[in-house]
Amino acid sequence: ARPCSGAGRQAAAGGDGALLRHLCRKLRASGPVTVAEYMREALTNPAQGYYTRRGGIGESGDFITSPEISQVFGELIGIWYISEWMAMGKPNTFQLVELGPGRGTLTEDILRVFNQLSSVLSKCDVSVHLVEVSPKLGEIQARMLTGRKVQPSPKDESAYMKGISKTGIPIFWYRDIQDVPSGYSFYLAHEFFDALPIHKFQRTEKGWREVLVDIDPEAPDQLRFVLSPSSTPATENFIQPEETRDHVEVCPEAGVIIQRLACRIEKDGGAALVADYGHDGTKTDTFRGFRNHKLHDVLSAPGTADLTADVDFSYLRKMTQERTTTLGPIKQREFLKNMGIDLRLQVLLQNSRDTATCEQLLHSYDMLMNPENMGDCFNFFALLPHHRLVHPDKKDKPESKSPLPPVAGFNELLLK
Ligand code: SAH
Repeated sequence: ARPCSGAGRQAAAGGDGALLRHLCRKLRASGPVTVAEYMREALTNPAQGYYTRRGGIGESGDFITSPEISQVFGELIGIWYISEWMAMGKPNTFQLVELGPGRGTLTEDILRVFNQLSSVLSKCDVSVHLVEVSPKLGEIQARMLTGRKVQPSPKDESAYMKGISKTGIPIFWYRDIQDVPSGYSFYLAHEFFDALPIHKFQRTEKGWREVLVDIDPEAPDQLRFVLSPSSTPATENFIQPEETRDHVEVCPEAGVIIQRLACRIEKDGGAALVADYGHDGTKTDTFRGFRNHKLHDVLSAPGTADLTADVDFSYLRKMTQERTTTLGPIKQREFLKNMGIDLRLQVLLQNSRDTATCEQLLHSYDMLMNPENMGDCFNFFALLPHHRLVHPDKKDKPESKSPLPPVAGFNELLLK
């Protein structure tokens, strides 16, 4: 797992330096760029970006995520969607939309649960929609979910790839959430928002300044941080007058995406589950890099390391503009406990025959749940239609309606 906070600045070599050369040319031609622009290039440059070329998720890569640690994680999330689908009156169709699916493991585990509970979902038409910018990861997802290599779709179609899951569910791939068809949808974003580009700001005696990336004049093939000499459009737009911190990170792209999800849920129904490490508008400098499971200097060898920043859940909540209700953030260990992880672990332990498997199960449980590992620093956050929690006419006739079921994960799971 990626450590929860703190940035190391160890020197790191590596990569063929093509992205660094491209960035240096750009910086020489037009001056320093924002951290957001640097991060976008380093992660998703179409030719040299980290996710486009490397995307090293898993034990042999640069960082490991909860779905890669244990199948139980995805299974419990699958149950969350079924429980919400039931609570919302079992609509006869839904789309499962995952943002940034990585290797596809999480969707694979969710679809296994949907298949095991096919008697419950039998009259429901389910389709899967994956939003992925990296062609390399898209291919890995296709192989994982369909069991084969999938051919790209014709250029005029909104989905760039489509296939059928091993359990017979249609799957579509897109580059942007805007391309996903409208309709009743359950959205999922696990370790997605932390990969989106952030702007960084520093309070100075002269007011707020934006942190920029420039060439180091002492070492022309190295990068360094500088402060903008005056305020920038971003300092004007993104810093709240009541801000008390001295250093702030803002991710406008996350704001735009969460707004789109909120609009879609308000209009078409469904829910969104966001899981990531983050804070509620309290942390300052969280920008960091990972390579081979170690902290990596964010400005060194761009394109060869994962870059990430904690998600500001208070900003996401604000950007929903109250179009939906929000729940959380709640700690991963509380969410998974509410979803019944202890019971699931007991069943798996009883069914496993050898001690190595039991040890592996206990170890992965500890990784997900222990506050020292991922239990405390990862959070769950949900968007739900207002009517999911309050009857629209409750104010008028409170006694005439049966109570609405609690939302699983944020409360204990009750499946009826
Ligand atoms: N959810 C997965 C992977 C997390 S890594 C897991 O938990 O294991 C981040 C994922 O988001 C990768 O699949 C990456 O390619 C994708 N990604 C990053 N930026 C993106 C963007 N702007 N649009 C769509 N996908 C993006």
